[in-house]
Amino acid sequence: MLTNNLGYPRIGNNRELKKACENYWSGKITSDALIAVGKSLRKQNWLLQSEAGIDLIPSNDFSFYDQVLDLSLTLGVIPAHYSEFEQRNTELDLYFAMARGAQKDDQDVKAMEMTKWFDTNYHYIVPEFTKDQEFKLYSEKIISEFIEAKELGITTKPVLIGPVSYLLLGKEKEKGFHRIDLLDKLLPVYFEILKKLEDENVEWIQFDEPFLALNLTNIERAALIHTYKEINNRFPNIKIILANYFDCFGDNLETALSLPVHTLHLDLVRCPLQLDDILKSTFISSNTFLSLGVVDGRNIWKNDFQKTLSLIKKASNLLGKERLLIAPSCSLIHCPCDLDLETNETSLTPEIKQWLAFAKQKINEVVLLKKFASGELETTNNTHYNENNKANQNRKTATIIHNEAVKNRVGKINEKDSQRENPFSIRRQKQIEVLNLPLFPTTTIGSFPQTTEVRSWRAKFKKGEITAQEYDNLIKIETEETIRFQEESGIDVLVHGEFERNDMVEYFGEQLDGFTFTKNGWVQSYGSRCVKPPVIYGDVSRANPMTVKWAKFAQSLTPKWVKGMLTGPVTILQWSFVRNDQPRSTTCTQIALAIRDEVVDLEKAGIKIIQIDEPAIREGLPLRKEDWATYLDWAIKAFRISASGIKDNTQIHTHMCYSEFNDIIQNIADMDADVITIECSRSQMELLDAFSNFKYPNEIGPGVYDIHSPRVPSSKEMSHLLEKAAAVIPADQLWVNPDCGLKTRHWDETKKALIEMVAAAKEMRLLI
Ligand code: GLN
Ligand code: ZN
Repeated sequence: MLTNNLGYPRIGNNRELKKACENYWSGKITSDALIAVGKSLRKQNWLLQSEAGIDLIPSNDFSFYDQVLDLSLTLGVIPAHYSEFEQRNTELDLYFAMARGAQKDDQDVKAMEMTKWFDTNYHYIVPEFTKDQEFKLYSEKIISEFIEAKELGITTKPVLIGPVSYLLLGKEKEKGFHRIDLLDKLLPVYFEILKKLEDENVEWIQFDEPFLALNLTNIERAALIHTYKEINNRFPNIKIILANYFDCFGDNLETALSLPVHTLHLDLVRCPLQLDDILKSTFISSNTFLSLGVVDGRNIWKNDFQKTLSLIKKASNLLGKERLLIAPSCSLIHCPCDLDLETNETSLTPEIKQWLAFAKQKINEVVLLKKFASGELETTNNTHYNENNKANQNRKTATIIHNEAVKNRVGKINEKDSQRENPFSIRRQKQIEVLNLPLFPTTTIGSFPQTTEVRSWRAKFKKGEITAQEYDNLIKIETEETIRFQEESGIDVLVHGEFERNDMVEYFGEQLDGFTFTKNGWVQSYGSRCVKPPVIYGDVSRANPMTVKWAKFAQSLTPKWVKGMLTGPVTILQWSFVRNDQPRSTTCTQIALAIRDEVVDLEKAGIKIIQIDEPAIREGLPLRKEDWATYLDWAIKAFRISASGIKDNTQIHTHMCYSEFNDIIQNIADMDADVITIECSRSQMELLDAFSNFKYPNEIGPGVYDIHSPRVPSSKEMSHLLEKAAAVIPADQLWVNPDCGLKTRHWDETKKALIEMVAAAKEMRLLI
């Protein structure tokens, strides 16, 4: 029996990678310094895993920005419009330009599209393919990292996304072909990589084919079979692990089992039941190994050894111990690094801490589970085993988890609680009367730059270096300046800027009961951006208003409308580590009731427009279509519960980003928000097609510029996008806004871009 790890967090215990990247981007450190940070992080991770007793330690799981972009560069999938930039810059700068755009000297290139990695909050850069796409081995990162580890005395297992999933992750940039048609042109480059790794004496290679957890077409299944047959024919001596995660193999099981690979990795956290099907299946060959993903790579709860060992036992009884590998369910990049760093007992109490495990602890769990399951260690009288058992037992009965009042309120929810007083057409008339906005009303998504200064105030306040009053005053001044800027630049619906918020989920979690926080539980979201998800350990309720004070203050400064800003229940759920002792739908409904109370309080305070952000609705979709309806049912209902406690003439906005909307457009319409703002600009308004084909009835603000890039767009560029939008959506339904919040941007570029945006809206008004 071996221990196997699929990937380790690369951000570093103290987000060293984030800091180094950002310093490099702002010119504070050289590329050599950045490269050295990467090297040291890889070394730490390899040594940690090797010392813990992991047999199959991953390499190539490191990335400066994103592993999909790494692979695009490896395979030479570089869109043509970077070719001049490519000639004039280093490979590293080209890489970052593809990720985030670049404006330097006379060079101006846009960033590539980014989207969510399956149902996680990790974002990857979408590969772009043309009809006659060529592939070539462009970057040898995977090989050099293997050699780098070997020099440290560690023979790693390189991981890479399999050819079929890589193609499926991308998108066609022109019509007339399907990206899967490119497979035969792509495979030779994979062979070249394998050959080079073989020359370096590689023993194991892990191919991630997470599309096996999705509904595949016959062509896609055939592509998988073809790929792994070809690989097996050419490299019979390399042990290939084929990894699937995030859901069951489902109806791809037969295909998966018939692939000529050495080991199949299964996610037994998301899909424990599949183990029986696999063990019973007549398709499993008598020498296939199984990597059992038993330690949750997507959550922070301590493993239940007793339960897990009985699952492993089932497999070892049938297959024999020798054919098993013990592993986390997926890569650990979705977990924070190390629970040992959580030493502040007031933020994370010892009672809750004993229920948790982060990446480093999960590595130890994998090793212990293997020792118990293989018989290397006895469970009787073992302190690790006993501690694990005790923690799991006392979590079941802990009083801090249960709140009867909350459970009762959820039980009493009725149909009316998820319905506004009247349908949109009636509400709209009432809102037009109250709000009196121009055509193409301009607004922003909520946050304005969270400068180092703003963050330093919060840090000082938390450390006790400034008083609550001093902190509030600083935030007030910043808010007022932001209101003034919005007035001067002619924006129609203002926001207060969200300066008081550390993060759109954490801010609410901190004020809700049932949530707790880590000090250092960072997880990569995209590039250098990390999030610190709250931990929902118990029943959720709202003790006091959470945002009313700031909304009221901002509204008092101006005769223009100021939007109240809330995060929606599904997004709070989705971006937290959620308790695994009750259905997610129940936890979501509890949050929805808390947000509903806040919406009602904002209305009472005179706020006429309230935005409930739900950027995570789509990413919460189960991977398999057959499971969508159940999820959408409770998720959309939760949003509606949060938005329905108010009068018709209060306008509800919602916001979503980085989503494809085609397949859930009906459900988005069912949310019945009066206005929805969506990310659109990176896809050149393509995302709007879903809304226009559907004849989406409510109002829409398609984002007219990309806020993930420091690039300042011109008003022409934006009015061009708006013209595209107006061609498919009636003009009186359109709003004008950026793609998302501006918190990651600098003031300078923000001001310039918004002034251009208002100019674009004005041009549009003249056209109509
Ligand atoms: N209101 C939030 C903001 O502007 C929305 C962020 C998001 O959609 N991710 O920051
Ligand atoms: Zn957004």
